[in-house]
Amino acid sequence: MAYDFDLYVIGAGSGGVRSARFAAGFGAKVAVAESRYLGGTCVNVGCVPKKLLVYGAHFAEDFEQSAGFGWALGKADFDWATLIANKDREINRLNGIYRNLLVNSGVTLHEGHARLIDPHQVEINGQRYTAKHILIATGGWPQIPDIPGREHAISSNEAFFLKELPKRILVVGGGYIAVEFAGIFHGLGADTKLLYRGELFLRGFDGAVRKHLQEELTKRGLDLQFNADIERIEKQADGSLKVTLKDGRELATDCVFYATGRRPMLDNLGLENTAVKLDKRGFIEVDEQYQSAEPSILAIGDVIGRVQLTPVALAEGMAVARRLFKPEQYRPVDYNMIPTAVFSLPNIGTVGLTEEQAREAGHKVQIFESRFRPMKLTLTECQERTLMKLVVDADTDKVLGCHMVGPDAGEIVQGLAIALKAGATKRDFDETIGVHPTAAEEFVTMRTPVAG
Ligand code: FAD
Ligand code: NDP
Repeated sequence: MAYDFDLYVIGAGSGGVRSARFAAGFGAKVAVAESRYLGGTCVNVGCVPKKLLVYGAHFAEDFEQSAGFGWALGKADFDWATLIANKDREINRLNGIYRNLLVNSGVTLHEGHARLIDPHQVEINGQRYTAKHILIATGGWPQIPDIPGREHAISSNEAFFLKELPKRILVVGGGYIAVEFAGIFHGLGADTKLLYRGELFLRGFDGAVRKHLQEELTKRGLDLQFNADIERIEKQADGSLKVTLKDGRELATDCVFYATGRRPMLDNLGLENTAVKLDKRGFIEVDEQYQSAEPSILAIGDVIGRVQLTPVALAEGMAVARRLFKPEQYRPVDYNMIPTAVFSLPNIGTVGLTEEQAREAGHKVQIFESRFRPMKLTLTECQERTLMKLVVDADTDKVLGCHMVGPDAGEIVQGLAIALKAGATKRDFDETIGVHPTAAEEFVTMRTPVAG
């Protein structure tokens, strides 16, 4: 049968665009549908605008610390509307770049909501198109628990477009988004509380990292409330919000921001017209080659709920394009040693196993740790400390994990990830000459284990 397209991609986000562009480059006839914004979550309401806001928040401490270096500044004044307008302008520019990338690589762009009609057919804007392969790359959507007053809460989607910086804000959750946005709002001057339902936030990260970040954020005056969960939210006559916690406490605030995970975006996608199956958590179930239960339909990125990170969606998109249209270049995505950063202030950077994971996996471990005051702060009042930690296999000497909390941790850990991926041993680290004076050199000068 002759199809309209070799590949029809639903969703022009990180994974979809990568897959569509490369498939077209390999000679396939490709279309991509996008209902909302080119570039998807990462470009519009994720990584990119988030990082811009983090940069914005960082100036608060830069101004404060500059006094130690002889600078005298007037009273710093921050304007939220300017930051948001400039951020919007930059995102607009990036949307244009994504459009050009697609069009210049020969991909047909359909702007509208796509719905599956059958295993080889998609409907969009009242038109139907057939395709040999269909790739679902529809991403995720914030998930807010169904509590009374939920309608008064916002998610990250709205946080990027608030008209004003709230005077008081409660951020709910203990994952990436909650921790990053608590830092943003606190840095920009809002009275910020972070509420997390468990004992300690950032479940899954190394224990020392979680504790160290807790201490650093507390030093900065961020109000961290653990073992705290909201029962209901009520709007008051003056427009403020009354928040009642499950333990009976009441808090007054101007904004409640939920960052409690993301669900797969499957709304009105027409999956019922296909044999595509969902896993227990509701994400699209695929095999190791991103093939769903329906032979003509594949899925990648956040909608399969494996690792919800842009570089992972990109790698999966590339793998699909190669498998379908350039099989001789196909390489499976390696999910080991994925480096990641939490852009809190200070940053977390991490790659490989946490101490807890290494012990659980049966490794006999040696732990190396360094805690120090960054050189930049020695002329300032700031008492922030950096943490660096290596988890080493005592039998093979292989470095199993690198973890850092401190300035530029995300930048530093990217290079370390290459070393770990290449199987570096602690001896390789020791024999590497440092770059002096940097914080990063500390990773190659830790000599005495703190725990075995
Ligand atoms: P998406 O990028 O979400 O793209 C899916 C696209 O499909 C969307 O554009 C959507 O409009 C479209 N779509 C959905 N349904 C349809 C339909 N039926 N028809 C047509 N189009 C449709 N990751 C990092 O690596 N680093 C970070 O710093 C980082 N920060 C983040 C900050 C926030 C606040 C959030 C929310 C996420 C962040 N992420 C970060 C995660 C990252 O954004 C995602 O992992 C990534 O965008 C997933 O890409 P994707 O292609 O799977 O989906
Ligand atoms: P996460 O899954 O990281 O964290 C969700 C948090 O919400 C957890 O602390 C969880 O607690 C808590 N939670 C879940 N359900 C409830 C509930 N019903 N009530 C109260 N608390 C609840 O999700 P995020 O929304 O922070 O981010 C989504 C994903 O996006 C991340 O996992 C990450 O993959 C990606 N991302 C990456 C970033 C980066 O690379 N820098 C930045 C932002 C997002 P518990 O631990 O107890 O389950």
